[in-house]
Amino acid sequence: MVDLHKILNDVREFQAYLEKIDLANLGHDYTREDLLQLSNDFYSISMRSMGSDLKALADEMKLKEYPELLGVHQFPVLKEIAFMSEEEKIELDTYLSKCYLGYDVTGFGLFTFEKAKKKQLKEWLIEKNVINELHVVVCPHCLHTHVSKQMTAEQKDHLQTLFSNYKNHGDYDAYEELDNELYLYCTNCEQEIDLDYESSLEYRTINTLIAKRNKRLDNI
Ligand SMILES: [Zn+2]
Repeated sequence: MVDLHKILNDVREFQAYLEKIDLANLGHDYTREDLLQLSNDFYSISMRSMGSDLKALADEMKLKEYPELLGVHQFPVLKEIAFMSEEEKIELDTYLSKCYLGYDVTGFGLFTFEKAKKKQLKEWLIEKNVINELHVVVCPHCLHTHVSKQMTAEQKDHLQTLFSNYKNHGDYDAYEELDNELYLYCTNCEQEIDLDYESSLEYRTINTLIAKRNKRLDNI
């Protein structure tokens, strides 16, 4: 059996030997051409990276020991999805594992599913409490920047009622509350949002991650 400590010691010794070579002396003893040749010879040697080779081997052994790592394992509930292939579920598991809690997963990044499937998936994940569905008001000018906090359906309905009360009945209390809830200046298009000129509020629906990742296999 190869002695692991010997491998490490030999590499350390070789590194120490290289460190001891005095470049100033070489410059004194050899011509520029000699040194350039040696430099080129060095570059022609493909130095083995033992660190990454050993890491790859350890990773390979880990997969043999824990084959569940090859399948859905970070959000186990995804295994129950009946309308996706195993590969798609693994892709989704990996994608969600890179999102932090509260991350807006609307559209599921670069997912290549067709639209109907994305909709089905979204509804399934909401039902299983993997993601939630929230609403935000967007800037009426650029339709891009969020100008409200993230709201539940009830909070959105409340905001909409305030807006209607202000627009239809001139309810100033409703305006004050709207003024507190909305950012009436867009940092993206740099325009003021004047509720007197807006006939409606523009909403966007977003879905954020609420399920915690299973970290059982993180540090094995
Ligand atoms: Zn804007």
